[in-house]
Amino acid sequence: MEQFEGKAIYNGVAIGKIKYYAKSEQQVKRYKVEDVDAELERYEKAKEEAGRQIEELRQKALAEVGEDNAMIFEVHAIMLEDEDYNESVYNIIRSDKVNAEYAVAATGDNFSLMFAEMEDEYFKARAVDVKDVSERLLRVLSGESSQRTTGVEPVILVAEDLAPSETVQMDKSKILAFITREGSANSHTAILARTMNIPALIGVDIRQQWDGCVGIVDGREGLFIVEPDAATLEKYKGEQKKERENLELLQSLKGLPDETKDGRHIELYANIGSVGDVAGVLANDAAGIGLFRSEFLYLEKDNYPSEEEQFQVYKTVARNMAGKKVVIRTLDIGADKQAAYFHLDHEENPAMGYRAIRICLDRRDIFKVQLRALYRASAFGNIAVMFPMIISEKEVQEIKKICGEVRGELDSSGIQYGQVELGVMIETPAAVMISDRLAKEVDFFSIGTNDLTQYTLAIDRQNPKLDSIYDAHHPAILQMIQMVIDNGHKEGCWVGICGELGADITLTEQFIRMGIDELSVSPSFILPVRKAIRESVYQR
Ligand code: PEP
Ligand code: MG
Repeated sequence: MEQFEGKAIYNGVAIGKIKYYAKSEQQVKRYKVEDVDAELERYEKAKEEAGRQIEELRQKALAEVGEDNAMIFEVHAIMLEDEDYNESVYNIIRSDKVNAEYAVAATGDNFSLMFAEMEDEYFKARAVDVKDVSERLLRVLSGESSQRTTGVEPVILVAEDLAPSETVQMDKSKILAFITREGSANSHTAILARTMNIPALIGVDIRQQWDGCVGIVDGREGLFIVEPDAATLEKYKGEQKKERENLELLQSLKGLPDETKDGRHIELYANIGSVGDVAGVLANDAAGIGLFRSEFLYLEKDNYPSEEEQFQVYKTVARNMAGKKVVIRTLDIGADKQAAYFHLDHEENPAMGYRAIRICLDRRDIFKVQLRALYRASAFGNIAVMFPMIISEKEVQEIKKICGEVRGELDSSGIQYGQVELGVMIETPAAVMISDRLAKEVDFFSIGTNDLTQYTLAIDRQNPKLDSIYDAHHPAILQMIQMVIDNGHKEGCWVGICGELGADITLTEQFIRMGIDELSVSPSFILPVRKAIRESVYQR
C-alpha cells in the first residue's frame, strides 16, 4: 500500500481500478506531397469535421454542465477559424510541400508556446486550448475516432493533465474520480469535476505503472491510496456507503421548498467567486446568489478589468440565473486580497486598513467603472448590489449619491438598466450598532460573519494560531445577529447571512427563529442546509 498527497478540488470518496490516461501520442510524420491543392483541401475538410465535433461537444456541455462551461468550446471554435493559425498551416503546406498533419502539429506547437509565454494569465491559459484544437485536427486527419473512451468498467482516471474537452467528452458514468499531476483548482477541468460531483485531486505525483491497480481517492483529506491493504479498503468502503446514503437523501431534496415544518420560507442562496461557479449553483438548486465576491475578477488580472469586461461577466451570471436574485458585492480588495496594480502601501494592520469601500470611495474612477458595469448588467436579470466593510451612514449616503450619478449618466446615454436593490454588508461591530440607522438607507443587510467575528473578537482570521479561539458561536456574535435582524425588519429590510456561519447546520434553526430571511452558502452546502431548514420549526 502506498499513499500520496494532493490538493482536493472536489470532496468525496472513490474506490476502484486505476486507469492511466495517456494522451493520444501522435507521432506526426513529415512527408512531401505532390498535390499541394489536394492537401489544402484535406485540411479544409478536417477543419469542417473538427468544427462539427466541437459544436457537438458544446451542445453536450450546455446540456450537462451549463452555459458558462460550454463557453470553452466557443473559444475552440474561434481558434479553429483563427486567421493567423490557418495562415500558418496553409503556408507550411504550400512552402514546404508537406502533409497537413505536419503543418497542423508545427503550427499547434508554435502557437501554444507563444500563448504559454504571455504574461496575461488569460492568454497563458489558452495554450492548452490551442493544443487541444490541434490534437483534434490531427485525430480527424488520421481518421481516429473523436471519442476518448475509458472502457466499460468505471475507473479512477489518472492523467498528467486533462483538457476541458477531454473531461467533458468522457462518459460520466465511467469515471469514479480524477487524479492529475497538473492543473489548478480554478481550471475548467477542476470546475467541470466539481460540477460533475466527481471526487478529484490535483498535484499528485502520478505513475503510469498504477494502471490496473486498485486505488482509493479521499477527496476530503486530499489523499490517494494505491493498492490499499484489507483494513484500509474496508474502512473506506464503510465511509463510502455512508456518503452515498447521505448524498442520495440530499438529492431527493432538489426541487423542494426551503421551508420550515411550520411553513416559514427562507431564501437559500449560494456564494460564488466567478462565473464558473454558477453551474454548481444551478446543479445544487440554489434559489439565487447571495454573494458574488467580485474582487476575484480583479485578482486574476494584471490590470483593472474594464467596464465592458465586467459587464460581460455580470451579465452572464445574471442571465444564467434566469431571473433569480444575484447579489453582487462591490470590490472588497485589500488586506489578504492584494493585486499589485493597485499599488497599495504596506500596512501594519491591513485588515483594519485601506481596503474595500474605503478604497472605492477614495478612488471613484475605479468604483464608477464597476457600478456602471453592474447597472448595465441589471437590464439582463435580477441584480442586487451590496457594499463591504461599512462603518457609517455617511459612507452609505455617499455611495447612494455615486449610484445616482451613474444612473444619471446611463440615462443620458440612453443605456437601459433594471431595478437594483442596494444593501450593505454588516461585518463591523460599528455597522451592527448603527444598523437601525443604516436600515433607513438600504433595501437589505447581509451579515458577513467571517469579518464580524474577526473584528468583534479581535482575532485575526488569517492567523492559524488563533483558529481554536476564533469562535463564530460566541454569544456576542449571536446577539449581534439578532440585533441586526430586528433593526433591519423595523425598516422593511430583508436580512441574510453570507459568512461561513450561514452554512453551520447546528445553528440553522436558531437563525430561523431569530427571523433570518436569507442564508447564502457555498454551492455544495445548499442541500445540507435545505435539509436543516426543512427539519426546523420557526415558532414553538
Ligand atoms: C465575511 O466577511 O463574512 C464575508 C462574507 O466576506 P469575506 O469572507 O469575503 O471577507
Ligand atoms: Mg468580509
